[in-house]
Amino acid sequence: MARDSKESLVNRTLNSGLIGQRPRKGQKSNKKAPSSKRHQKLVFAFGKNTEGRADMRSLLGGKGANLAEMASIGLPVPPGFTISTRVCNAFYENNGAYPSGLSKTVEKEIVNLEIQMNRGFGDPRDPLLLSVRSGAPESMPGMMDTILNLGLNDETVKGLALKTGNKRFAYDCYRRFIQMYGSVVLGVRSANDSSEDPFNEISSHIKGEADVEDDMDLEVDALVNLVKKYKSLIKKRCGKEFPQDVYEQLWGAVSAVFGSWKNERAVLYRQRYGIPTSSGTAVNIQTMVFGNLGQNSGTGVAFTRNPANGEKQLYGEYLINAQGEDVVSGVRTPNPISQMKKDLPENYKKLIRIQRRLERHFRDMQDFEFTIENGALFLLQTRNGKRTGVAAVRIAVDMNKERLMDQKTALLKIPAESIDALLVPIFDPNAIKNVRQVGRGLPAGPGAASGKIVFSSDKARYEVKLGNRVILCRMETSPDDLKGILISEGVLTTRGGVSSHAALVARQLGKVCVCGAAEVLINYRRKEMVVNGKKLKEGDELSIDGSTGAIYAESIPTVSSEVERVLAGRGRKKALPGSNYHLFQTVMKWADKYRRLRVRTNADTPIMSKQAINYGAEGIGLCRTEHMFFDEGRIDLMRRMILAVTEKERRASLNKLLPYQRRDFRGLFQSMAGRPVTIRLLDPPLHEFLPGDLKLQREMAKRLDMSLGEVKKRMDVLHEENPMLGCRGCRLGILYPEITEMQVRAIFEAAKQVMLKDGNPPVRPEIMVPLVGFSSELADQVSVVRRVAEDVMKESGVQIDYQVGTMIEVPRAVVTAAEIAEVADFFSFGTNDLTQMTLGLSRDDMGTFFESYTQKEIYDSNPFVSIDESGVGRLILYAVEQGKLARSDLKLGICGEHGGDPASIAFCHGAGLDYVSCSPPRVPVARLAAAQAALIDPS
Ligand code: PEP
Ligand code: MG
Repeated sequence: MARDSKESLVNRTLNSGLIGQRPRKGQKSNKKAPSSKRHQKLVFAFGKNTEGRADMRSLLGGKGANLAEMASIGLPVPPGFTISTRVCNAFYENNGAYPSGLSKTVEKEIVNLEIQMNRGFGDPRDPLLLSVRSGAPESMPGMMDTILNLGLNDETVKGLALKTGNKRFAYDCYRRFIQMYGSVVLGVRSANDSSEDPFNEISSHIKGEADVEDDMDLEVDALVNLVKKYKSLIKKRCGKEFPQDVYEQLWGAVSAVFGSWKNERAVLYRQRYGIPTSSGTAVNIQTMVFGNLGQNSGTGVAFTRNPANGEKQLYGEYLINAQGEDVVSGVRTPNPISQMKKDLPENYKKLIRIQRRLERHFRDMQDFEFTIENGALFLLQTRNGKRTGVAAVRIAVDMNKERLMDQKTALLKIPAESIDALLVPIFDPNAIKNVRQVGRGLPAGPGAASGKIVFSSDKARYEVKLGNRVILCRMETSPDDLKGILISEGVLTTRGGVSSHAALVARQLGKVCVCGAAEVLINYRRKEMVVNGKKLKEGDELSIDGSTGAIYAESIPTVSSEVERVLAGRGRKKALPGSNYHLFQTVMKWADKYRRLRVRTNADTPIMSKQAINYGAEGIGLCRTEHMFFDEGRIDLMRRMILAVTEKERRASLNKLLPYQRRDFRGLFQSMAGRPVTIRLLDPPLHEFLPGDLKLQREMAKRLDMSLGEVKKRMDVLHEENPMLGCRGCRLGILYPEITEMQVRAIFEAAKQVMLKDGNPPVRPEIMVPLVGFSSELADQVSVVRRVAEDVMKESGVQIDYQVGTMIEVPRAVVTAAEIAEVADFFSFGTNDLTQMTLGLSRDDMGTFFESYTQKEIYDSNPFVSIDESGVGRLILYAVEQGKLARSDLKLGICGEHGGDPASIAFCHGAGLDYVSCSPPRVPVARLAAAQAALIDPS
């Protein structure tokens, strides 16, 4: 983005489509219904006269576009046509009515198919049968509906039997069609009905009578009987006969597929993957080919590479004498594709040729469906295959090596989050297959963890001493829980969102965390919790997946990551080509070549900093100094300081804290070896430091040599109705300048020690003032910082190059950014608080209503995970613009949790920030996301 233009940054960004790219909820499409745009083409043929292409997926959906592409390069695709997504949008805009002219066009296409296939739709002599399938621009596997064998009725089934000489086959197709149509179109059984499918009940009964287990073993008479029974079920449930008119069948099916765009599964899937509702689905109508014609026929699904680990091998499964739904529905167990080499050797060879051809043409791993009809192989679909994170990385690196894609394309093919899969422990893939999930929370700290349930840090310590692994389960966490978090495998909380205390502490420490699990009810007194009706006691086994939010009520073995071991110096440094470590390094090297944004880390200790440097961090973007006081030995000193009544008492406590702070900063500066380090002045809501329950208050009073009465009195004075909006941030330093003085002295004395004694490169501290809303607040603190800095530099005779800046986390700071920039060397966007204050929404209470908000599609995504671009994002753009106008060399960064989120990183790139800062384990994700943002928007 050119930065010297006079046009406002906000306008430029809006005009460039950078923000608000995804249509937001409630934002009506500008498109008119297709009926008012007569010239717009609604239907596109494929087969003999193919009208579509792979790059038309927004109009034809992924399936339609790729069927057209395969047909046009001469791959064997049964002919058909696609009703475009335009029709879907019109269907919803006009309450289920279709654009005028659609039915005529569809009829014309059917006639074309009749001519190509030399069969008649509804013709009893030689019926043309069709499949009707959904196909959205973004693939949504299994989320919408499909109808096969459409065009069969009581007459055409006889024709099909005669024509094929196979009555059993004809009735097998008919019973399948009636069952699918009855369920999907006529709603014989609603999607939410958990009772046994009545069609299956009937077929089980008939199989029982015939004494067979498999549908394929039913004789023809049994199938004829099944058809009869299915039809009477429909009559009974729907009050009308199964439709015999083939066009009535067709339009029923088309409407049902369009209707399935808004079924519950599809809505949830779109939410999960951020797919806009306005993209709509297409409907593909295609000539049927039959895999159920006998032993020389079959059907299957294959991937051109292994989607689990990315290895280059044909991977998939197939069934002989079957139709597609048999493979996916699980009624029969399919065979691994390798077995086809023996069963159908000629077709296996063809598949291998197709595997190569598809990859060379589509230049990505493909997931394709095929059917073999009497020995002839047909392709029914291809799409870019879904894959695990590890597979995504391996496939991109391998395909680059095989010259199937260049480096830039390979980088863009790896979802940035996938890199995590190379770093975190995961559940043993074999073990997880047999485990049932009991609940779910918000995924807040990636990885997999298993251990005994504990409800307190003390119990955690007890169990760990016995050699047990534990999962700390809390309603929410406070600094008192840190000691428990540190020794636990993972943390589960029932309240709090992804930027809550538990989540951000766990993430920084690289702990697995699931938070805001409202389905879990903890009873501390009884030492038990209930997850969706399942009672679990302290000491029971629990497993949590912080990458998905899943909760399991049993122990599941985990496996640690090779990359993590090598980076931590516990594995072979020179990794073999193709090893996970090698893949990781390759992708990171590429990413660093293309990214513009710098990547820093949020770290408060030398250990965290070292881990972050191993992951490629280029500095510290946020050191939360209050975290340095959470340690058991210091928290009481801190509490003493908070509870002090007079300045003298406070200064006495601060003097005791000073050496600790100095030592911490020295360690931090040493580990960062000359890289910039942003240290934020104290910013805790004070309640975070003071124990909430009476027992802990009593214990604290004893340790501090105070009476419980004194403690309670002081706590009453300090009590705030809403501590998040109370005496925190710069307000603390303004009311008690001695706190700022102590911290600044510790920073500069530590810097001096590192430069003089340790001989390290010059330290570059950046002192950051939190929660500023008025430039006068910042000016007050800047003057304290500069005064103490000058004092220490004079005392030691060492000149230190430092900066003083501020966090932008209060809406007023955004509005007055120009004035604030006059006093600041840098801005760092604290998007946790900025989101909280802009939305008027507590960052700690998301769990309670987030699920309903998700279901109702009120939020496109969690605003504490991905920047709310059209709200908070606009504020950021405004502050950037105003800040830069006031001070062109203003440095700009972000240190809220959004700094590790790929979508937010793309936004920060577009907004022209200089760096993002995130927890150490997110650094690799941020490097990759920053590169992808630069490749997509190179300006
Ligand atoms: C923020 O508000 O975004 C921030 C980084 O500060 P904290 O999370 O410590 O309030
Ligand atoms: Mg904040």
